[in-house]
This record gives sequence, C-alpha cells and structure tokens, in this order.
Amino acid sequence: MLALVKVEAGPGLRLQDVPRPEIGINDVLIRVHKTGICGTDLHIESWDGWAAKTIVPPLVVGHEFVGDIVDVGSNVNDFSPGDLVSGEGHVTCGRCRHCMAGQRHLCANTVGLGVGRAGAFAEYVALPMTNIWHHWDGIDEEVAAIFDPFGNAVHTALAFEVHGEDVLVSGAGPIGLMAIPIVRHAGARHVVVSEPIKFRRELAMRMGATIAIDPRERDLKDVQHELGMVEGFDVALEMSGNAIALRSAISNMAHGGRIAVLGIPTGEITLDVNKIVFDQLTLRGIYGREMYESWYQMAVLVSSGIDIKPVITHRFDFREFEAAFAAARSGDSGKVIMDWGTA
Ligand code: NAD
Ligand code: ZN
Repeated sequence: MLALVKVEAGPGLRLQDVPRPEIGINDVLIRVHKTGICGTDLHIESWDGWAAKTIVPPLVVGHEFVGDIVDVGSNVNDFSPGDLVSGEGHVTCGRCRHCMAGQRHLCANTVGLGVGRAGAFAEYVALPMTNIWHHWDGIDEEVAAIFDPFGNAVHTALAFEVHGEDVLVSGAGPIGLMAIPIVRHAGARHVVVSEPIKFRRELAMRMGATIAIDPRERDLKDVQHELGMVEGFDVALEMSGNAIALRSAISNMAHGGRIAVLGIPTGEITLDVNKIVFDQLTLRGIYGREMYESWYQMAVLVSSGIDIKPVITHRFDFREFEAAFAAARSGDSGKVIMDWGTA
C-alpha cells in the first residue's frame, strides 16, 4: 500500500510502498478515505526538536482520518466490514489505575497513532477495537475525518460551564476555530477571539465569534469596554501555545475565572501566580479527548446542527502531500484535508 513515511531522521516525508498493517485478534483494519493534517504532522515533517526526540523512523505518520473497516480480528464482535469509522489516536494501556477506572484520557502510558505506532496517512491503518469510533448515520465524511481535533476542541470548550458566560479564545488555528461554534451552541454570551493572522480572524467571525482582534493591535481591556463587560472573561480557552496569549488571558479574567489550556508552548512560561491566587483563577490542562465522552459529544453536536465545516479550507489528493503540508503551514488556512481516493 502507499503511505507517507518519515524514512529517516531529518526533514521531509516520502510517499512509499509499504506492507499493509497486520491485525491481531483485537484489531480492526481500516481503508482510509480522508485524512486531516495536524500541527503534530508538521512538526514531524520539519523534524524539529520535539520530533527528533520523539519519533523513531521509519514511521508512517498521521492520525486524523475517516475510513471504512475492511477486516476485523477474531475477537472483534462489535464492528463489521463496511462500517464508517474514525480512530481515537491515543492508544492507552488498558491496565493502569486510570484506564481501569474508565479515565483513559489520563493514562500515562499512551502511545500516539502516527507518533509511536504506524499512522493513518496510508491506504490502510490498523487500530485496536477499543480505539474505534463508529460514526452515526448521515455524517459528512470531511467532518468525520477531523473528529480527532474536533474532539480536542470539544474537550477544551466544554471543560467549564459556558452558558451565559463571556469566553475568550486565544489562537484561531483549526482547534480554536472549531471551539467557537461549540461554545456558541453551549450558550456563551460574548465569544472574543484573539489571533494575529487576518485570514483566521475572518474565519473566526464566520464561525460565530462576537469579535476577533489582532492581539498586536488591540488590547483585550478595550474590547471588554466596547462589549460592556464589567469584570473580565469568565472562561478562557488557550489554544495558541503562545506565552503572551496565556499571560494576557490570566490578566483579563474575572475573579473566579476558569482557563482551559490546550495550546502547547515550545518551552517554559513565566506566569503571574499572584494574579492566579488573588483572582482565584482555575487553570486546567487539556490533553487529547475524553474516551469516549468527547466523541459522544461531537456526534451529538453534529447531529444537532452545529457546523464546523467552514474550518476546512483546503483539499488535496494524497499524492499532492507537499502542497497540502505547505497550505497547512502557511497560516492562511484552516483545516487541510488529504483525500486517499478510496471513498
Ligand atoms: P495552530 O498552531 O494552527 O493554531 C495556533 C494559533 O495561535 C495560530 O493561528 C497562531 O497564529 C495563533 N497565535 C500565535 N500567537 C498568538 C497570540 N499571542 N495570541 C493569540 N493567538 C496567537 O494550532 P491548532 O492545530 O489549532 O492547535 C492549537 C494548539 O493546541 C497548538 O498549540 C497545538 O500544539 C495544541 N494542541 C494541543 C493538543 C492537546 O491535546 N493538548 C492537541 C492538539 C493540538
Ligand atoms: Zn493506562
């Protein structure tokens, strides 16, 4: 089968013929229809410091996908060939305290699809049956292809109650963009987006933001004044990984404010802990999706009409992967989809 492979330590990916993955008795084999490009894939492609210490080549990359099941192991009863599925990209151990308690997102032994095991940028991908999400009828395949990052957005956006609250979203990358309609649906009042890239601010407005500002040009205090907000943001979703953005969120919260932190900084960040203490703020780190509460919430949100599709701005055939990666890297994009030509 054809797959996008990190062949050796260093920049680049190669489209290669590799053996189709073998499945064990508890696994399913999926024919990949569509995939989404994630920031993680860009890190692996460019071979930055994180990739160099994390990835062991050769490796088939990618983890955001939708496809149909073509084969199941002898122990698998709940899935059948033809089922339209996506995969939870975090393969957990199943045996630790948290896995045993049904809190698999807290597993400390997680192995990432396309990071620690052969991934989904391929004509076929194999996963344990415990990692499979069977899509509900009527799902749009492009939306299904990005359930993984949509799940990050759901997990973060619904980490705290937002009904009637004023919400700050810092960073309107694909995940921040998807968080906007989610908090809208959940009843937020104002949704203020902070994002330096103009293309993404415009997309944020299309996806339901009250206002989208360039943090280099406009202060959040000024926006609060314009909107008639008195005490600061009730909830912030930090989705940029940028130190200035996190500090700015902390200094613009109402007392008792809650900050869900999804963005991954490149290094340590210095924070004003006095502000956190005296304003009685809660900071909560978010990693991955809750298995499978986030997945259930996504399915419910989609079937009750929220539209995340505007986040998809570019579509490529998998053979044009270089152009697809360039589009994802450019910043003038939302989510970039690669089609594997099998749907
Ligand atoms: P992205 O890199 O496309 O989006 C980040 C956005 O933040 C960009 O549009 C960038 O212009 C913007 N930004 C930069 N500086 C800013 C500032 N000072 N203020 C406001 N915005 C600023 O990434 P994404 O795919 O949307 O993911 C969002 C973040 O979440 C990334 O940091 C990513 O690494 C992280 N992530 C975390 C998890 C997790 O499980 N915790 C999973 C996936 C992604
Ligand atoms: Zn575990």
